Amino acid sequence: MVTMLAAIYVTYFAFASLSFNVAQQQQSLQYVDGYRSSCKFHQGGNFNLILSAPHGGSLMPTDVPDRTQGGCRRPGSSCTWIYNDACLDGRRCATTTVQDTLSGEFAENVAEELNSKYGLKPFVVIGKWHRKKVDFNREINEATLNHPEAISAHQSYHMSLEHAINQIQQQYGKGLLIDVHGQGVGNFTMVGYLLDSDLLNRDDLQTTLGTTTSIEQICSLSNRTECIRGQTSFGTIMEKNELGIAYPSMAHPKPGNGTFFQGGYITRNYISKINAIQTELPYDMRAGSYKLLNSKRYVRALIDYMTVNNLLKT
Ligand SMILES: [Zn+2]
Repeated sequence: MVTMLAAIYVTYFAFASLSFNVAQQQQSLQYVDGYRSSCKFHQGGNFNLILSAPHGGSLMPTDVPDRTQGGCRRPGSSCTWIYNDACLDGRRCATTTVQDTLSGEFAENVAEELNSKYGLKPFVVIGKWHRKKVDFNREINEATLNHPEAISAHQSYHMSLEHAINQIQQQYGKGLLIDVHGQGVGNFTMVGYLLDSDLLNRDDLQTTLGTTTSIEQICSLSNRTECIRGQTSFGTIMEKNELGIAYPSMAHPKPGNGTFFQGGYITRNYISKINAIQTELPYDMRAGSYKLLNSKRYVRALIDYMTVNNLLKT
C-alpha cells in the first residue's frame, strides 16, 4: 500500500513538474539572436504590437570600428560616413554613441508582462551591440560608417522589424510600433510622433497639419489635437497609469524650450505601413527601484491606448 502510494506520488510529481515545465516554456517568450548577436528578436507575435529597443546594447565586438570618430564633411558637400576615412581635407561631423541604459531590459519586461499576464505576445526587436558599434536608429551610412559587419547587423535588426510589420499588415491590417528609448534630460517622458517642440508648443495643433505624424491612421479617428495631446493620446494615458509626467499630454501639452526628441529613423521609416511612437523614458523609470512596476504600468498604458483607439487586434 505504502509502495503504491509512493508510486502514485512519484507519478503525480513527475507529471506536475512536467506540465509546470511545459507551462513555463509556453509562458516566457523565446528570443532568437540576429547577425552575430548584434540584436535579438521574438517573431511569434499573436497580436499587432511591435516593441523595438535599439540603444540598450552593450556588446563591443573588437573587429568592428568605433563610430565615435564620426563622419567627414568636406568643403561644399554634405557629411559622408566611412569608417576608414582619415578626413584630412575635411572636418569631422559628430555621431551620438551614448547607450540608453536598461532600455532593452525595460522593453523585455514589458513584453514578458504582456505575455504572462494577458497572454498577448508582441513582436520584439532588441539591440545587443553597443551604439558605439552600430546605431539601429540611424539611416545605414551614419549607422554603420559603412563597415561590412555593422551593415550586416543593421540589416538584421531592420529585416526583423520589416518581417514583423509585414506579418501584422497581412494578419491584422493595422498595428503599432513602439520604439523604446532612454533619455537623461529630465524626469519625464518624451512621446515622439515626428512633431518637434516648435510644433508642439503651438496653441493650435491644427496649424501643424503640413507635417505628417507617425500616427496618421490613429489621428484620422479624431483630430490632431486629440490624438497628440487629448484624452486618447499616449502621453495622457501614460500619466493616467501613474508613469509620471509625459510630453505631450492633456496636463503637459507643450514641451517648452528644452531638448525634445520627436522620433528618429525607426519612428519615421515604416509609417506608410504601421503607426509608430517613440517613447524616451527617464532614467528613474527604466533603471530605478520601481523599474519592474513601471514596466507593468507601461503595459496597462499600452493596452488602454490600443483599446481606446480601436487598434488592439488579436
Ligand atoms: Zn535612444
